[in-house]
Amino acid sequence: MRAMTVLLSLASARALQRVGGFARSLCGRGATVAPEAATVEAPAPSAYVMPKMEEVVSLCKKRGFVFGSSEIYNGFNGFYDYGPLGSELKRNIKERWWRDMVRARDDVCGVDSSIIASPKIWEASGHVGGFSDPMVDDKTTKKRYRADQLFYAELACDDGSSLGIVTVFESEDTEGDAYKAGKKLAKKAGKTLSRPLVLKCLEDAADGDRPRIPPPDAPDRPGDLTAPRDFNLMFSTSVGAAEDNSAAAYLRPETAQGIFVNFKNVASTARGFKLPYGIGQIGKAFRNEITPRNFIFRSREFEQMEIEYFLPPGDDAWRASHARWIDDCRTWLVEACGLREELLGFEVHDKLAHYALACTDITFKFPFGEQELQGIAARGSFDLKQHTDASGKSLEYFDDGTKEKYLPQVIEPSIGVDRLFLAVVCSAFEEDEVNGEKRSVLKFHPAMAPVKVAILPLVKKDAGINDIAAALYGDLKKRYNCQLDAAGNIGRRYRRQDEIGTPLCVTVDFDSLDDGAVTVRDRDTTDQVRLKIEDVVPYVTKLVEGY
Ligand code: ATP
Repeated sequence: MRAMTVLLSLASARALQRVGGFARSLCGRGATVAPEAATVEAPAPSAYVMPKMEEVVSLCKKRGFVFGSSEIYNGFNGFYDYGPLGSELKRNIKERWWRDMVRARDDVCGVDSSIIASPKIWEASGHVGGFSDPMVDDKTTKKRYRADQLFYAELACDDGSSLGIVTVFESEDTEGDAYKAGKKLAKKAGKTLSRPLVLKCLEDAADGDRPRIPPPDAPDRPGDLTAPRDFNLMFSTSVGAAEDNSAAAYLRPETAQGIFVNFKNVASTARGFKLPYGIGQIGKAFRNEITPRNFIFRSREFEQMEIEYFLPPGDDAWRASHARWIDDCRTWLVEACGLREELLGFEVHDKLAHYALACTDITFKFPFGEQELQGIAARGSFDLKQHTDASGKSLEYFDDGTKEKYLPQVIEPSIGVDRLFLAVVCSAFEEDEVNGEKRSVLKFHPAMAPVKVAILPLVKKDAGINDIAAALYGDLKKRYNCQLDAAGNIGRRYRRQDEIGTPLCVTVDFDSLDDGAVTVRDRDTTDQVRLKIEDVVPYVTKLVEGY
C-alpha cells in the first residue's frame, strides 16, 4: 500500500515537473502571475533522436560534466572524474533517490556502511569464490578480453571454401560487424562471403575451434588467444602495517552486503521497523572490470543506490513485492529523473543464480545498445543465511505479530548512479538550430538540472538592476545551484544556459526597478512569464521539488 502512495504522489508531481515547457506562460507574455503557474501540464516531449556516443562523451568533457581520470598522466582506464556540472548532476540523482526511496517512505530507512570491511563478509557472500568473469588474453599484445563479450564466426564463401574465423566484440549488430570484417578478407581473396554468419560466444567455444580463433581485429593470428579462465573482479588491498595474508581485505564490489550484515543492528534500532521493511544505501563500489567500456556505463569505480527490502517468508509472498518494486523503480526513473519512457525496457532473466528466485532488469536504450540500467532481484533469504552460518550469529527476525522467528526473504532493487547519470544525459540530449547554427541542448528534468536558475541582469552597468539581481541570486543560491551571468547579449546568455540544461532564466530589467517583478524564461518553450520578485523562490521550489 505504501508503494502505491509513492506512485500517486509521483504521478501528481509529474504534472509539475515534466521535462519540457514547465514554466509555460499561462497568462501571456509580460503578465505577473502567482507561483501556482508552475502547475501547468507540460507539452509532450519532442521526438527523440539518439545521440552518438562520441557526441555524448565530447559534450560531457567540453561542458565540465565528466573527465577521464588522471588525464595529465595520459589517463587511467576505467576511472572517471566528475566536473563542476557533473558533480551537481550526480548529487541531484542521489539526493532525489534518497528523498523518494528512503525518506519519503515509512517502510525504508538508510545506512552508510564502510567500503572496506571484514574479508569474511565476501567469503560468506560468495564473492571470493565466485565473483568473476571469464577472461582471455591475446598472447601477442597481452590485451585482456571478457570471453563472454567476444563472438566468433566461420567465414564461409559462396564457392564452399572458408577464409577461416573472425572474432568481434558483442555489439548492437555483432553479425554485421563480423560480416564487415569478413568482407574485407573476402575482397582481398577475390571471393564472395556467404551470409548470414553463424556467431558463437567465445566463452562456449568448442575445444576444436580454439586453435583457429584469432583475437579481435587480428584475423591473421588464429589460435593467439588463451583459454578462458576466471578472473575475480574484487580489488584487494591490505589493512594496517602487516602485509601478510591476515591483513588482506577487499574494496566492496557492491553496497548490498553492508546492509545484510547490519540487518540485526538496524532492525533493533530503527523506529517502526516491522516487516516488510527496507534498508537503503548509496555508496561507492569497485569492480576490476576486465574491459571497462562505454564511458561511465561500465567503470571500475562507481556508485550504487541499493535497497534490501525484507519480507516475511512464504512460497510466493515475494512475487507481489517484486512486481511492485519493478513498477515503482520504472516510474521513478521517468517521473523523478525525466528519462524518456520510450528508451526504457525490461529484461526478465531466465538464467538465475542458484539462490535467486527471479531477476528483472530495467533496461535503457543507450547509444551503444539496450543495456541493464537497474536490476531488481528476488534473492530469497540466501544472504542472511550465509552470514548467519559463517558468523555463527543469528540474523533471524522476531515477528511481533506472529510471535515467530524467521530469516526474511529479500527483494533487491539496485542501480548505478553513474549508469543513471549517463542515461539522464542521453535522454536529455537534443540538437537544434539557431540562426543556421547547430547546437546541443540538454533538456534535463528540473530536479536533475545541475544549474536550476540563471539570473541575468539585462545591463551590466546599472547599479539598481545589479542590486536586485545580486539579492535574488543570494536568496536562490541558499537553496539551489544557480548562476549569475551578466556577460554578453541576452540571447547568447540564454543559449549558454540552454546548452547546460538550466530550466529557468530570470532577467532583471529596467521595469524591475519600478514594478518589483522579473521575467522568467522557460528553456524548452522559450515562453516568458513576469513574476513578482518574492514569488521567484516559491516558483522555482515548486518546479524543482514538486511542492
Ligand atoms: P552488468 O551485467 O552490467 O555487469 P551487473 O548485473 O553485474 O551489471 P549488479 O551487480 O546487479 O550489476 O549491480 C547493480 C547495478 O550497478 C547495475 O544495474 C548497474 O546500474 C550498476 N553497475 C554494475 N556494475 C557497474 C560498473 N562496472 N560500472 C557502473 N555501474 C555498474
